[in-house]
Amino acid sequence: MEAQKDLAIVIKSIQFAERHRIVTAITQNHGIITAMAKNAVQSKRFGGALDLFIASDWILQFKPNNELAFLSEAQVRQSFDQLRKNFEKFSLASVFTEFLLRVGPQNQPCPEFFQLHANALYALNENTACQGFEVFFLNSYLMKLLQLSGNQPQLGSCLHCQIALETLDPQSEINCLIADAGWICPSCRSQSKILIQESRAQGFTQSFFKVSQQALLEIGLGLVTPIRRIILSPPPALNSAEARDRQTGFFRWIEGLFIYHIPGFDQKPMNSLRFLGLDSGLTKATDCL
Ligand SMILES: [Zn+2]
Repeated sequence: MEAQKDLAIVIKSIQFAERHRIVTAITQNHGIITAMAKNAVQSKRFGGALDLFIASDWILQFKPNNELAFLSEAQVRQSFDQLRKNFEKFSLASVFTEFLLRVGPQNQPCPEFFQLHANALYALNENTACQGFEVFFLNSYLMKLLQLSGNQPQLGSCLHCQIALETLDPQSEINCLIADAGWICPSCRSQSKILIQESRAQGFTQSFFKVSQQALLEIGLGLVTPIRRIILSPPPALNSAEARDRQTGFFRWIEGLFIYHIPGFDQKPMNSLRFLGLDSGLTKATDCL
């Protein structure tokens, strides 16, 4: 059983029995792994390396037919201190982490997921003014997660008539469908209600969300811009109550896409969403057909 080295960012850490810790992390080379850190509670061997968000160099061993790895050493490389000192940053980092934990590939290399999460935490730690942009940052991160997991929705054009998003009125309301992972324009919507009824997402109280054209354009930008740049220099125009409302509407649709399209996505409410003033839109929503 050979010891291996990997760079890991902690996404969950719980005490096990009296003296041990079980730590889950996204790693550069092994995807999401869970490891036992024996005698971690009293010992100073791990320093603060097993706390949430910390990035460390891990020395670990894998046993055949055992999903649990064994962690023998961890040296902190980046502690992202600001994430624990600022409530908005802490809240966002917590929601990023909860989504990643549910979506990231386990025990298989997924360097793009690692890079996205590392860059997001790095930028959040460095960012000087995060307040007001939280939902936009969250949506941008989540759209990138959907893209990496092969579930990116169609943003650029109407699913039905292919009209381009930019050509629509900024105030127009667009129907974003969950099951079809795309949207239909107001004119297609008025011509054919059947289109939505046929696309009903099974098991949902609602098969679509109304989102403004502007919100879709904003998030299109979020998708093509690296997460570091989004968080370090967000478009100032997005810091307004209206922009936040637009992005909150958009978040509801993204949440639906995760639940519907990601196999095994855990639908238990995420505790950290409360910190951002968001709650799940799916339980309360009523169908407006
Ligand atoms: Zn159309």
